[in-house]
Amino acid sequence: MSRSEDLFAQAQLTIPGGVNSPVRAFNGVGGSPIFIERADGAYMYDADGQRYIDYVGSWGPMILGHNNAAIREATHAAVERGLSFGTPTASEITMAEKIISLVPSIEKVRMVNSGTEATMTAIRLARGYTGRDKILKFEGCYHGHADALLVKAGSGALTLGVPNSPGIPEDFAKHTLTVTFNDLDSVRAIFNEVGNEIATIIVEPVAGNMNCIPPAPGFLEGLREICDEFGSVLIFDEVMSGFRVARGGAQEFYQVTPDLTTLGKVIGGGMPVGAFGGKREIMDYIAPVGPVYQAGTLSGNPVAMAAGLAALNQLDNAELYPDLNAKVERLVTGMQQLADAAGVPFTTNRAGSMFGFFFSKDPQVNSYQQATECNMDHFKKFYHSMLKQGVYLAPSAFEAGFMSAAHTDADIDATLAAAKVAFAEL
Ligand code: PMP
Repeated sequence: MSRSEDLFAQAQLTIPGGVNSPVRAFNGVGGSPIFIERADGAYMYDADGQRYIDYVGSWGPMILGHNNAAIREATHAAVERGLSFGTPTASEITMAEKIISLVPSIEKVRMVNSGTEATMTAIRLARGYTGRDKILKFEGCYHGHADALLVKAGSGALTLGVPNSPGIPEDFAKHTLTVTFNDLDSVRAIFNEVGNEIATIIVEPVAGNMNCIPPAPGFLEGLREICDEFGSVLIFDEVMSGFRVARGGAQEFYQVTPDLTTLGKVIGGGMPVGAFGGKREIMDYIAPVGPVYQAGTLSGNPVAMAAGLAALNQLDNAELYPDLNAKVERLVTGMQQLADAAGVPFTTNRAGSMFGFFFSKDPQVNSYQQATECNMDHFKKFYHSMLKQGVYLAPSAFEAGFMSAAHTDADIDATLAAAKVAFAEL
């Protein structure tokens, strides 16, 4: 038994499923998860001493690679000054100013502790601002686990939200309408029925929780138009795409401006941080200036602000994004060539430093439906072959991959060498 297997058995005695977040348990790929001891640059090292080239990056935050020196030093320095004060600090102003400078649609911003808190509050704010109850989301988009957002499409009936989990009253879920990502007609149809009751459309502008699915041309623009027409608030959930698809997020890349934006992951440099921000007029509906309540004992935590700022400050580097994009290009074109040579039905998607691999017969995957129809057997076999060869991919066919500044061309070539073996084994 490996040390990781041993730890997993032990963990299951005291932690549900042995993990503090479900997908870590490897239920998407089978087998036992690896327990990580430390990470540096592009690599993670497990409890058995094996090294992995890491394309998960703590699910997104590690855009600069693990154990980034400036983030580590800024965090240490903040720790020396105290862990938490429960008062305002100057670093929160610096953080707000930094976010506003990077994401122009954000005029005011509030810090929270996770992506879930950010989206949950953005929804409450949109409802409070518009005085409407209904919200619209897309099948396959994940926005954290707040009750209103853990809702799937009702079978058949377009308009009925059904809870994704026990513990969510049907009465809560029924206000959440779910339609098809990249299908503007489905959005129009529902707005034509009940548009005047819809507080907000929330969308991942690049979907990263059904593998990686970029928006079809015109999709985000269409959402903007519909929201303008019906007086609904457009929320871009950029928890994953923020500072990653481009420095200013997907909204910069696709040149579509939301009313509110939610952020997480990269913004904290690896510390538990989220944020929501947007138009001044809407943000001023939040307490204490406005009537919509939101709060947090540890929000704007000085250590988290120091880590996050040290991360964001390093994004002001003209070479960073072209370099990340070039490395993703090298990886996905290499993978495609290898799959083609091995005769394995396969396709890829990419948006900035996010990417996705699909074991699909379709030449292009741009819908949730197609993502769910991929060959899971191929995915799982491929996954475990890569893992054995020291390449750590997300342990689920429905997660995006992430490139970091620390990955080298040699790391990517080593990944492709492993993939050649893995494709041959299918
Ligand atoms: N929104 C998106 C787009 C996400 O990808 C995630 C997490 N993967 C969340 C929200 C929730 O963030 P957290 O896990 O920090 O609560």
